[in-house]
Amino acid sequence: MDNVTLGKTGLVVSKNGFGALPIQRITKKDAVYLLQKAFYNGINYFDTARWYSDSEEKLGAAFCYIRDKITISTKTGAQTAEDFWKDLNQSLENLQTDYIDIYQFHNPAFCPKPGDESGLYDAMLEAKKQGKIRFIGITNHRLSVAKEAIESNLYDTLQFPFSYLASDADIELVKACKKNNMGFIAMKALSGGLITDSATAYAYLAQFDNVAPIWGMQRESELDEFLSYNDTPPVLTEDMKKKIEHDRKELAGDFCRGCGYCMPCPVGIEINNCARMSLLLRRAPQEMNLSKEWQEKMRKIEDCLHCNQCMSKCPYGLNTPELLKKNYEDYKTFL
Ligand code: SF4
Ligand code: SF4
Repeated sequence: MDNVTLGKTGLVVSKNGFGALPIQRITKKDAVYLLQKAFYNGINYFDTARWYSDSEEKLGAAFCYIRDKITISTKTGAQTAEDFWKDLNQSLENLQTDYIDIYQFHNPAFCPKPGDESGLYDAMLEAKKQGKIRFIGITNHRLSVAKEAIESNLYDTLQFPFSYLASDADIELVKACKKNNMGFIAMKALSGGLITDSATAYAYLAQFDNVAPIWGMQRESELDEFLSYNDTPPVLTEDMKKKIEHDRKELAGDFCRGCGYCMPCPVGIEINNCARMSLLLRRAPQEMNLSKEWQEKMRKIEDCLHCNQCMSKCPYGLNTPELLKKNYEDYKTFL
C-alpha cells in the first residue's frame, strides 16, 4: 500500500486517509465497525473536527485501545483562546486520548500568528508545550489564507480542497507545501459528490507524492472501494485523462463546491446542495434529488430574503442568491 509522509511532521500515513465527517450520520455501532474495518485493512490516518457533532466520540470508541497505532487530526473553529482550550479539552475527552497528532484551525478567515490579538496561535504553542498536541495545522478554502499559512512557516500541515478539478493555483499550493516541507492533506477529493469516478480521482491525486487525501466515508461499500485501491492502486490511463479534461470543461468557471460555509440561511435554504442542483441532477443518480422532499427543499428558494449573508461568507466569491435562482429555474424545467 502507498504511504505519504506529512512534511516536517515526519508522520507516515496511508495514502487513503479516512474523513470522519460522514460518520455523524450513522449509528455509533456502525461507525465503530467501519472505522475498525478501515484500520485492520491498512488505513491509519483519521481526520475529524469538533464541529462534526459526535464524530470524535465515535473515533474514541473505535480506537482508544490502539491509540498509538493511528494518526488522528481534529480541528477547532474557536475564535478566542478561551474557546480554543474548551474545544481542545473536549476533543481529548471525546477521542479518549491524552494527545492529538495534528490540531488544526478549522477554516479561519485569517491566518493566526503568534502575538496577534486573537491569541489563537499562542494557545496552539502552549498546547504543544503541554504535550496535548504534537503538530500544528490549518484547514482552509481560501487561497489567500492558505498561501499566507505556507509563507509564514508557522504550520506543519495544510488541509485544502484538492481534486482533479484543481486549478493551476491549487496545484501551486501543493508544490509550495512540498518545497516548504509542509504536509498537504487533500479534502473534497470527490468535489462534494460531483466526481463519481473514485478510481480516476485516486489516480489523479496519486501523481502528487506529498498529497494525503482523506475520503469521506459512511457506507461499507465506499470503504471497500477505497480499500481495493490499497492492493491495486489505480494508475492514470488515457481514458481517465480524457474524462478529467471533459469534467474540467463541464465544471469550468464558478460552481458551488458544497462546502456549506455560507450556512446557516435565515430561512433554512439548504444552500450547499440547492446551489449545485443542476450539476447534481446531471452527474449523480437523479431519483433522490427529484423526490418530494427535495422538491420542497428547492421550493424554499422562493423564500430567499436576498439578505446576501451567504454571498458574504462564500470563500469562492460566488453570487449565491443568483446561483440558487438559476438552479431553481433549471430544476423546475427538469421536473
Ligand atoms: S440571500 Fe437568501 S439564501 Fe442567502 S442567506 Fe439570505 S435568505 Fe438565505
Ligand atoms: S455557495 Fe459557496 S460557501 Fe456555499 S456551499 Fe457553495 S461553495 Fe460553499
